[in-house]
Amino acid sequence: MQCRLLRGLAGVLFMLLCMGLLSLRYHLRLSPKRVQDSPGLSPASPWPPELQLKDVFIAVKTTRTFHHSRLELLLDTWVSRTREQTFIFTDSPDEGLQERLGPHLVVTNCSAEHSHPALSCKMAAEFDAFLASGLRWFCHVDDDNYVNPRALLKLLKAFPQTLDVYIGRPSLNRPIHASEPRPHNRTRLVQFWFATGGAGFCINRKLALKMAPWASGSRFVDTSALIRLPDDCTVGYIIECKLGGHLQSSPLFHSHLETLQLLGPAQLLTQVTLSYGVFEGKLNVIKLQGPFSPEEDPSRFRSLHCLLYPDTPWCPQLVAR
Ligand code: UDP
Ligand code: MN
Repeated sequence: MQCRLLRGLAGVLFMLLCMGLLSLRYHLRLSPKRVQDSPGLSPASPWPPELQLKDVFIAVKTTRTFHHSRLELLLDTWVSRTREQTFIFTDSPDEGLQERLGPHLVVTNCSAEHSHPALSCKMAAEFDAFLASGLRWFCHVDDDNYVNPRALLKLLKAFPQTLDVYIGRPSLNRPIHASEPRPHNRTRLVQFWFATGGAGFCINRKLALKMAPWASGSRFVDTSALIRLPDDCTVGYIIECKLGGHLQSSPLFHSHLETLQLLGPAQLLTQVTLSYGVFEGKLNVIKLQGPFSPEEDPSRFRSLHCLLYPDTPWCPQLVAR
């Protein structure tokens, strides 16, 4: 009798044990990737990790004559917040700059002319340096652009890594036409959109890697010569005509070829790039009240920088009452 009771109890215990094991297996299968599967990551870490500013390669194109008049302003303002990932591409050695920037000043072998080959040569150097960097995004700007690092990161973060991305401001409101030489002395008329280099543009690594057959090493200059168009058009040609990609138009990039005064004060704080220059004979700059006067700060970049980063040492400090 006692024996039967014991056997019954053992049977119940065995059943409970089996049910427990089954439910444990079920839970393990449903639970997200376990910690031991991905060393160093907590179970909730996303893959790939969330984009950070240090993942973005920023290339600035400049030339000898602008080392002082344009670069100083950038180094004092936005570049001071993006030092780690900003690289300045120029055509002439400059001891003072080299000392300050170290490997972040890239002296290319490109000529200091404003010709298509000279400018394409610099874009090629930027592109190759980006590929070698292993970073996740390539952004190109001119030396008369202000880059808002926070706005840039916010924009780029929004794209899933699975997409090919080419984003910037189209320079025209229609596609540009080019004639592409074909074998046997024939030509093919092609049309494509491109982002104007003077407003800056960005390309993600996935797309940049596909561009390499037309853009890496000496091939960028060859491609540019083939269609006889400048560097920024060549980027659009490679992406749209060779790879079947598309320019994503963004209103957050600005060159001095548009009326910059039209941007409202709140808007100015959220744009990815801004610029300054002379347009149709008049100074074309963003409209900002202060803190610096137009005489002290003709580009308005210093004033904008103080609004974005009030803790900058040379910005007028607000006195606490
Ligand atoms: N630039 C250059 N070599 C030159 C002239 C200009 O690399 O001989 C660069 C300049 O530093 C800037 C860009 O090309 O980053 C556009 O030049 P700029 O703003 O003077 O002319 P834009 O085309 O905007 O009128
Ligand atoms: Mn310019």
